Parts: sequence; C-alpha cells; structure tokens
Amino acid sequence: MAISVWEQSTYFAPKDLVIVGCGFVGLWTAYEAIHQNPKLNITILERGTIPSGASTRNAGFSCFGSVSELISDIQLMGEAAMLETVKMRYDGLQRIQEVFKAKEIDYNQWGGYELFEGKKTSKNKKASKANKGVSSDESGLYDISKLESDIAYLNKILAPALKTPKKNGKYLPIYTNASKDIKKLGFQGIEALAFNQLEGQLNSAKLVLALQKAVQAKGVQILFNTEVKKFKSHKKGVTITTNLEAVLETKQFLVCTNGFAKQLIPSLDVVPARGQVFVTEPIKNLKFKGCFHFDEGYYYFRNLGNRLLLGGARNADFKNEKTYSLETSATIQKVLEDFMMQRILPKGSKKPKIELRWSGTMGMGSIKKPIIEQLQPNVYCAVRMSGMGVAIAPIVAKKALKLMKG
Ligand SMILES: Cc1cc2nc3c(=O)[nH]c(=O)nc-3n(C[C@H](O)[C@H](O)[C@H](O)COP(=O)(O)OP(=O)(O)OC[C@H]3O[C@@H](n4cnc5c(N)ncnc54)[C@H](O)[C@@H]3O)c2cc1C
Repeated sequence: MAISVWEQSTYFAPKDLVIVGCGFVGLWTAYEAIHQNPKLNITILERGTIPSGASTRNAGFSCFGSVSELISDIQLMGEAAMLETVKMRYDGLQRIQEVFKAKEIDYNQWGGYELFEGKKTSKNKKASKANKGVSSDESGLYDISKLESDIAYLNKILAPALKTPKKNGKYLPIYTNASKDIKKLGFQGIEALAFNQLEGQLNSAKLVLALQKAVQAKGVQILFNTEVKKFKSHKKGVTITTNLEAVLETKQFLVCTNGFAKQLIPSLDVVPARGQVFVTEPIKNLKFKGCFHFDEGYYYFRNLGNRLLLGGARNADFKNEKTYSLETSATIQKVLEDFMMQRILPKGSKKPKIELRWSGTMGMGSIKKPIIEQLQPNVYCAVRMSGMGVAIAPIVAKKALKLMKG
C-alpha cells in the first residue's frame, strides 16, 4: 500500500527516537524517555498484532531470585556480579510498584518459596531417575544441609545492598527456613523449603497494557504489525526499512527485541530460549498461594486464583528449547505434568485438566547480564534479559537512555 502525503507527514514523519519491540524494555524506555522530555517524538515498532515475545507470555512472577539460583549465580559470575543483577531486579520491581497501583496490574505480594528435593544421596539419585525429568541434572541437586548457612549469608549481603525494609533499626530477614510448612502445603518428595517475604506475582499483560496506555497518553506512537527488516545508520540518524511501504527516519534507534535480537543484529551474543507454561482447571482445596521455585528457578509455579500455573523445565531439553518457535513441545509438557503430579499436588490427587498451554521467547547468552550498548552511530540495543525482564526492564530502560544521551 502506497502511503499518502498526510500519512507521510504524520505517522511516518521523521522521529527523535524509534524503538523496535513493544515488550517491557521498549515500553519502559518510551515511558522514562517521554517523562524526562515530553517534547520527544517517539515511535515504537512491533511486528506482532500484540507484543509477541516474552512480556505477555511469561508466568507473571515478580521475583528477584531464589536461594539456590543466587548461590549458583555466585559460583558462575562471582558475588559482586550477582549483587548487581539482584539489585537491578529489586529496584525494577520497586519502580513498577511506584508507577502502577497494585489493582491495575493484579499485583500481590504473597511471598515466594523455593522447594528442595534434598541432599544428593543414593536414595535421592534413584528417586530422581524414577521421576525422569523432575530434575534433569542430578549434579544440580541442592545440598539442603547448607540451607541455613546459605540463608544467613544471603540475608547478610543482600539486605544492605538492596536496602530492604528495616524494623527497630535492623534489616528484616529476606529469606527464612520454612520447611515446617511442607506438610501444610501438600508437596511430595520435598525435604526443605525457603521463604522469601519480598516476592510477588502480577498479571504481565495488564502491566504491558498499562504501560502502553501511559505512553500513548503522552503522545508516543505504537505501530503494530510493523516488522523492522533492516536499518542503516548515517550521519544525521538512522533509516529504517519495514514491511510497510514507508521508510522511517529517526535521530536515534533502539533495538529492544530481546530473544529475537540476532535476527536483526547477527553479531550479538543472544540465543532464543523458549519458556513453556500451562494452567490447569480450578483445583478444589488448592493448598498454596504465592510463587514457588524449584531446581535453581528452572521450574516455577504459582496459584492463579484456585488454578495452578506451572512452567519451565527448559533444562530437560536445552537443545530443542533454543528456538524461536512459539509452539509447545510434548516432551517439556510431559515433564511439567509429571512434576505437577509427583511434587506439587498431594499424593493420590486426581490429575486436573490442563486448560491452556503456551510458550514465550526469552533471550539468553553466555552470561546472565543484559546487553545495553551502542552498536553504530545513533544505533543502540537493550537486549538479552536472561529470563529476568519483568523485573529489570525499568532499570535497563534508564541505563539505555543514559547511554543514548551520552
Ligand atoms: C515462561 C516465561 C517465564 C518468565 N519468568 C520470568 C520471571 O519470573 N521473572 C522475570 O523477571 N522475567 C521472566 N521472564 C522473562 C521476561 O518475560 C522477559 O525477560 C521480558 O518480557 C523481556 O522483555 P523485552 O521487552 O526485552 O522482550 P519481549 O517481550 O520479547 O519483546 C520483544 C518484542 O520485539 C518484537 N520484535 C522482534 N523482532 C522484531 C522486528 N524485527 N520488528 C518489530 N518487532 C520485533 C517481538 O514481537 C516482541 O514483542 C519469563 C519469560 C517467559 C517466556
């Protein structure tokens, strides 16, 4: 469709900033930019009819890390890098709550738990094999004899770094040992439980919509069904070619396509990682409320009213989950269903019907850190959220804007 002269001077007129990707990172960047400078002319380009990456397709957690995940992060990247990412997650979650009312985004701070199968013993090894897929990597089994000391250590370093709430001048513990609650919650084969009082859950699509509404109210234009095909940086800005007839000119161009980043910029260290989820029918007497993690965060579940929302298990088939496909796979769905019956629901429970199954595309890489960089004159990227984008997007946005101003 050829564009009209009116369209050329409005929708497709030169912009100050064009953002590609209408997920949390693109939207938060537009939000912070337009609040810093209301005169900016900003357009977001999104190839889906609705945002079609991870932001509306995740599990609706607002978490900043479970005990075993953070301990594993320290082993992989060191204590300072772990603290830096956790601080971004915590500060990002605070920013979400500062900008939006809990009711608007169904935010509930019911806390989060981490479930532990137990110490690696020959008995556990056998059980793990029998429950194929519950923990695909036996070497990853957490040694629960370390739980108390790990909790004490994490509380000691995290509370001052994050500046979490205090009582009588002392930081309240973030994590506590909640193993006494296992029976009450009805789990099977679980030997220890850690509780994080600061974790919450939200409706991620409501958050996307609230952000959309907020930026559009300030004049930001969002063009859906518009796929960026290529871009060319030049002295005065960037020329963007899309699936539409019109060519867009912008002073600055920011790529926020996360897991899809390599499709536009092949040199980036970003691989797609599919995250699969399902929701059951209502379950009578569902015994728990809140967010739950298992196996360094590879498995996650929560209540959705009286339904169970369960996702993850990417580590049961890493190779095939490195995909842009938004289908679900029978292999992972079976592993999740086994986990539901063998760990989450009380022994002897009737298997609930699965009402919905879906997946979303995350962006991972060799390290668990976002890439916020200038790539060419006037071309920037803020990608590779490493499965933490709900939480870190508001902070990534601020960092990207700082870089662009510089
Ligand atoms: C199952 C699952 C569970 C998760 N759990 C958590 C969690 O517990 N905590 C947490 O913090 N995070 C979690 N995440 C991750 C979080 O959802 C993502 O990190 C975050 O949504 C990424 O936001 P984004 O804006 O960077 O990318 P996306 O939301 O993926 O947005 C990128 C957008 O770019 C668009 N796009 C791509 N290429 C083009 C192009 N060429 N032209 C135009 N548009 C394009 C896509 O359609 C997409 O809408 C989870 C994700 C999944 C899938």
